[in-house]
Amino acid sequence: MIFDAHCDVLMKLYLDPDKLSFQSKEDMHITYPQLKERGARVQLFAIYIPSYLKPGQRFQAALNMVNLFHKRIIEPHLDIKFVTSKEDIDNLQKHETGAMLTLEGAEAVEEDIGKLETLYRLGVRSVGLTWNWANAAADGALEPRGGGLTNFGYEMIDFLNEKRIWTDVSHLCEKAFWDTLEAARFPIASHSNAYSICPSPRNLRNGQIEALINKDSVIGVTFVPQFLNKTGIAELTDIIRHIEHICSLGGEEHVGFGSDFDGIDTTVKGLSFYRQYDNLIGTLQRYYTDKQIKNFLYGNFNRRIKC
Ligand SMILES: [Zn+2]
Repeated sequence: MIFDAHCDVLMKLYLDPDKLSFQSKEDMHITYPQLKERGARVQLFAIYIPSYLKPGQRFQAALNMVNLFHKRIIEPHLDIKFVTSKEDIDNLQKHETGAMLTLEGAEAVEEDIGKLETLYRLGVRSVGLTWNWANAAADGALEPRGGGLTNFGYEMIDFLNEKRIWTDVSHLCEKAFWDTLEAARFPIASHSNAYSICPSPRNLRNGQIEALINKDSVIGVTFVPQFLNKTGIAELTDIIRHIEHICSLGGEEHVGFGSDFDGIDTTVKGLSFYRQYDNLIGTLQRYYTDKQIKNFLYGNFNRRIKC
């Protein structure tokens, strides 16, 4: 069973709706046959608004992605279920996969909490406040100013807390991370690695990892080569180095995976497609017990769903 906390399939389908197929084996990193082949249990699908879209077009783009999610991922496949709660996931049959919507960046809600509420009603159950740049909620990891949460950012988090859904800290700059961690009741990092193993502004420093662990959060180790190894070329054992480091800080119960499949141009050697999760599992088996591996792959994220 695999719980993958982040992918960009919806962005790819949005940018190229006619050419790419979710049905074919390897059109994308994640496709229907591959999810089924690997026994995917829960896959999170991010709504990410491409930066060329102007204010006024962004919420509409988010709605279009929700439409694509249903048309291309849910409706054609009887054994992929749209899930919006822990109960939905618990009720999945053995052969079924749960698909959940998430949001990557407040751009989509155009400074309107009502639009966030609409996306919640449409099933979004995890919200990252930024991508790499600044927006109305906070500053992202690559924004030189490095500002914290705005009033609107706090307002968004209040809403997420009230609905008991995740606030995703991946992509936030450090100041915004700390503001968010204080305000959010249910923080996760859907796709981030350890800074001390690979110093990228997208990765988490030791204090951040420890603070997430203290808040009973989960860190989705991500398969982005540039966040795994500073050479930009990564192997499966690089993923182990990041897991090992999080575990060394007391995080054994707080490690998960957020592949970033279909959001990346280059991939880890031996982990170029969802199907190759089995290579990762093979590598994990050299270092960890079955129980630890089950928790990394599924249990640690799944047990933190509070909605
Ligand atoms: Zn991302």
